[in-house]
Amino acid sequence: MIRRLPPELIREIAAGEVVESPADVVRELLENALDAGATRIQIELWGGGIERVVVSDNGTGIPKEELPLAAEHHTTSKLSDLSQIRTLGFRGEGLWAIRQVARLRLTSRPPGQLGGATLEAFREEACLREHPAPPGTRAEVRELFGHLPARRNALESPAAEARKVAQLVGRYLLHHPHLAWRLVVDGEERIQHAGGGIGEAAKLLWGPVVANRLLPLQAEEGPFRLRGLLSRPELSRPRRDRLLLALNGRPVEWPEPLLQTLLAAYKELLPQGQFPLGVLNLELPPQYLLVNTSPDKSRVRLLEAEPVRAFLERAVQSLLTAHPLARSLPEPA
Ligand code: ADP
Ligand code: MG
Repeated sequence: MIRRLPPELIREIAAGEVVESPADVVRELLENALDAGATRIQIELWGGGIERVVVSDNGTGIPKEELPLAAEHHTTSKLSDLSQIRTLGFRGEGLWAIRQVARLRLTSRPPGQLGGATLEAFREEACLREHPAPPGTRAEVRELFGHLPARRNALESPAAEARKVAQLVGRYLLHHPHLAWRLVVDGEERIQHAGGGIGEAAKLLWGPVVANRLLPLQAEEGPFRLRGLLSRPELSRPRRDRLLLALNGRPVEWPEPLLQTLLAAYKELLPQGQFPLGVLNLELPPQYLLVNTSPDKSRVRLLEAEPVRAFLERAVQSLLTAHPLARSLPEPA
């Protein structure tokens, strides 16, 4: 017999697609901070983020009367047209998904608003009151999966969950290195970046020896813009885990044509099985991208790949031509 799922179960399933672990909570919150134009983002975790996560930003804030709406389902201030997405969020379900699986407390004050407000929300309940707050937004999430033991048991140890969060924060930091970032785990500062740019960011996360062997890359052609770092041919790695791409500020998995183009450019220069390192930020008109294919939005499709691919190829080729394989390496600073 076919029956309709009860509403609580429908909600749990939908929320579960967005939030499976503390790193998903952090991703949703820090993407909101980025979309809000924050220049300072702080992430604090306790107990691997299972006990508590706090993300604070100095962005545009949420007006008091809109706070309840912010945590509803399919409510967003961002989207007007799916082919014109310039923000990281647009599905209007990050905060909603979080409150289905944890206790959410959202405190905010737009810079122009006198005094702040706080919304406490858990599943169907919500309570709004006035509350003093600095300009910006602070989202606190407690007791992740507290009422969903099966999901909670599926989590890894707090230390492992904290590592996943640190990895994620590092990735966003590398793609947004002009912002100030801070990650605090159980009261201990793990990442502190003042916004000094991509070179600083690479040094912080990958160490000076690696950072000194990365070449700055800047190219612009028509509507495309590429900026970042790519390794000198003397530097490589047996894995592809430090070859990172963001499209319009969104960390993504490499679209295959772009990855193949980049690897081909290095092919003659690197030993077999070795990969280059780098962080690439590629900006292109939003209509080149199809983003809405997965809840974490990390898989994107290039709708018109060839011009983008050719642009990347020219940019990487000219960088590598200008820096041929050297016999002696520059000394680490
Ligand atoms: P989405 O990001 O897809 O819009 P969310 O549920 O994550 O969906 O957020 C809902 C809305 O709440 C956002 O569209 C935005 O208007 C507001 N919001 C959430 N977090 C912040 C923040 N840190 N600063 C300013 N506004 C925020
Ligand atoms: Mg969001």
